[in-house]
Amino acid sequence: MKTNEYIDIENRLGAHNYKPLDVILNRGEGIWVWDVEGNRYLDCLSAYSAVNQGHCHPKIREAMMEQSQRMTLTSRAFRNDQLPLLYQELCALTRSHKVLPMNSGAEAVETAIKCVRKWGYETKGVPENKAEIIVCKNNFHGRTLAIIGFSTDDNARKNFGPFAPGFKAIPFGDADALEAAITPNTVAFMVEPIQGEAGVIIPPAGYLKKAREICTRNNVVLVLDEIQTGLGRTGKLLAEEHDGIEADLTLIGKALSGGFYPVSAVLSNEAVLGLLQPGQHGSTFGGNPLACAVARQALKVLIEEKMVENSANMGAYFLGELKKIEHPAIKEIRGRGLMIAIELFEGTEGGARSVCEKLMKMGILCKETHTYTIRFAPPLVIKKEDIDWALDKIKKAFSE
Ligand SMILES: *Cc1c(COP(=O)(O)O)cnc(C)c1O
Repeated sequence: MKTNEYIDIENRLGAHNYKPLDVILNRGEGIWVWDVEGNRYLDCLSAYSAVNQGHCHPKIREAMMEQSQRMTLTSRAFRNDQLPLLYQELCALTRSHKVLPMNSGAEAVETAIKCVRKWGYETKGVPENKAEIIVCKNNFHGRTLAIIGFSTDDNARKNFGPFAPGFKAIPFGDADALEAAITPNTVAFMVEPIQGEAGVIIPPAGYLKKAREICTRNNVVLVLDEIQTGLGRTGKLLAEEHDGIEADLTLIGKALSGGFYPVSAVLSNEAVLGLLQPGQHGSTFGGNPLACAVARQALKVLIEEKMVENSANMGAYFLGELKKIEHPAIKEIRGRGLMIAIELFEGTEGGARSVCEKLMKMGILCKETHTYTIRFAPPLVIKKEDIDWALDKIKKAFSE
C-alpha cells in the first residue's frame, strides 16, 4: 500500500485527535526511521522523548522477548519476580524511597494527585475535601479529565467539563507567585522542570531551588513531572539535578521503557507513598513483569551506554551550532541537553509547521509545538556526525 492509501483509511476510520505529518513509518533503528516508500529520516521527536534509548534498542528488545516467553502479567493480586528488582534499581538510581508503578504518564500524574491529597488530609491536617494543588500555566501533564481540568490550554479543555475542583494555576517560573498562592490548605505544587509541550520553556535560573525552599517552608509537597525531562533528556538523569534539589514526588514515564511498552512510575519519599493502604489505588497492568523487565533494561542501557552524558555533550554542541543560524524569522533558540527548540516570530508565514514539512522532505522528522515553535529532541544515542548532517539540512530549510 502507498502512503496516500494509509492516510485515506486513517482519515475515514480514525478519530482526528492528532494532526500527524503525512509520513507512514514502518521501521526504526537507533536515531533513524523509515517510511513505507523506503525513505529514511532522522527522528528529532523521539516519540515525545519516549525513545531516548533509540528505536528498537537490541538489548531492550531482547529483554522484552525473553520476558514475554516466561511471564507477562500476574496482576498485583500476586507478586512477580521483576517488580522488586525494578524497585531496587529505580530507588538506587534516583535516591527515592518508594515507587508506585503505573502505565501511562497521565496515570502517574493522577496517582500523584491522589497521594498528595491523602497526605494533605492525613498528615498535614487539611480539612476534608479542601485540599488545593498549585500548578503552572501552560502546563502539560496529560489528557485525563482531572488533568485537563487544570490545563490552561483552551483547545485541550473546551467542552470536556465539568472539571474537578482543587487546582490553582500560577505563572511558570515565578517563585513569588508560588509563595503568594499557598494557603493552609495547599498540599502540593506540581511543575515540569522545563515545560516541554509548551515549547521547551526553561524557567529562570534558581527557580526550582526557590520552589523547593518555599515548599519545604510551607509544608507543601513538591511534585516534579519529569515524564518528558527525565531519564537523560536534559543531560542529567533527572532535570532536578541541574538545580541540585530533590523533589518529594517525581513522575517518570515515556523513556522508562525505551518506547517498547507504556511504563510509568511515581517515585516518592517515605511520607507520601507510605500512606497508601491495600485497595486504595491500583492498576491491572501496573507493575507487570513484562513492563518491569523492559523498564529495567531500558534504565540499564541508558546508564551503561552513557546516554545521559551523550545528551549533555551532543545537546550543547547541537544548541551551539543552531544558535549560529541567523534568519529574520527566528526569535529564539533555546534548550538543555537534547531538548531543544527554535521559536519563530509570531506571524511568520506558514509557522513552524511549514519548516517541519520542509525538513521532512529533507529527511528530518520533527514536530511543531503550538504554532511557532519547532522542537528538536533526537534519541540520546545521536552522534556528532549525525548532528552535523542534520545541521546542514536545518540551515538549508532556513535559507530557502
Ligand atoms: C507526555 C507527558 C505526560 C503524559 O504522558 P502520557 O503517557 O501521554 O499519558 C505528562 N507529563 C508530561 C510532562 C509529558 O510530557
